[in-house]
Amino acid sequence: MNLTVLGTRGSIPIGRPDSMIFGGQTSCYMLRAGEETIFLDGGSGLINAPTRFDKPPSILLSHFHLDHVIGLAMYPRLLEKGSETILYCPSLTLSGAREILDGVFSPPLWPLSLTEYTGTLTMRTMSRRFRIGDVSVETRAGFHPGGAVVMRLEYEGRSLVYATDCEPDLMGMAALAAFSKDTDLLLFDAQYTENEYGKRIGFGHATAAIGLKILECSGARQLRLIHHDPQRTDAELLAIEKQIGRENIRFAREGETICL
Ligand SMILES: [Zn+2]
Ligand SMILES: [Zn+2]
Repeated sequence: MNLTVLGTRGSIPIGRPDSMIFGGQTSCYMLRAGEETIFLDGGSGLINAPTRFDKPPSILLSHFHLDHVIGLAMYPRLLEKGSETILYCPSLTLSGAREILDGVFSPPLWPLSLTEYTGTLTMRTMSRRFRIGDVSVETRAGFHPGGAVVMRLEYEGRSLVYATDCEPDLMGMAALAAFSKDTDLLLFDAQYTENEYGKRIGFGHATAAIGLKILECSGARQLRLIHHDPQRTDAELLAIEKQIGRENIRFAREGETICL
């Protein structure tokens, strides 16, 4: 399976010349595993996703914050008549999830609700364990204001853990390390620097140093740091990468594909 980073900026999309290496679109990652295409979150990066697939693609939402859902509004596939896209929401009731999305995508904020688009959007809720074809998905609650889901996806003996908008100091580092045990790829929120984190405890994001600890405790093979702060420049991210100095630890770059 492989994972393409379509957007990895945190909080809000940006488009500045000093941020072209790591990119400005918000959270969206495309996992391809056998016949399945699974998007992790529907941030603004979703607008650059392919639209044609042999099987309907699935979108797994970690939570409903705008930077994780805003791309749904303009994903061209949702405008294609006869297409189906499956949207998995965090485990509220289905009507609760619908109500939240309708609150964002409805007049006067947006002209249409997502279910009024010409393509079909089938909504489901995520349970603790479920399958999408041959891909198994396991979920846990991470620590984030309003909640966010941490996910582990496995296919043919390979796995990845998606821990965005996650502050493990408050969720319990050991719990996340155990959930990430021996995974091939850990995607981990490192929005803040060490200095910033001291002033933002409880905001539901973490740092590269915390990611490193989780990597070491879990035995994960690769770490991609994600959810870059909107103010962080390419030069700053490259400097942190250099300081860490390990080939298997990098900040995710928009457009890169990681083979697992
Ligand atoms: Zn976010
Ligand atoms: Zn969030």
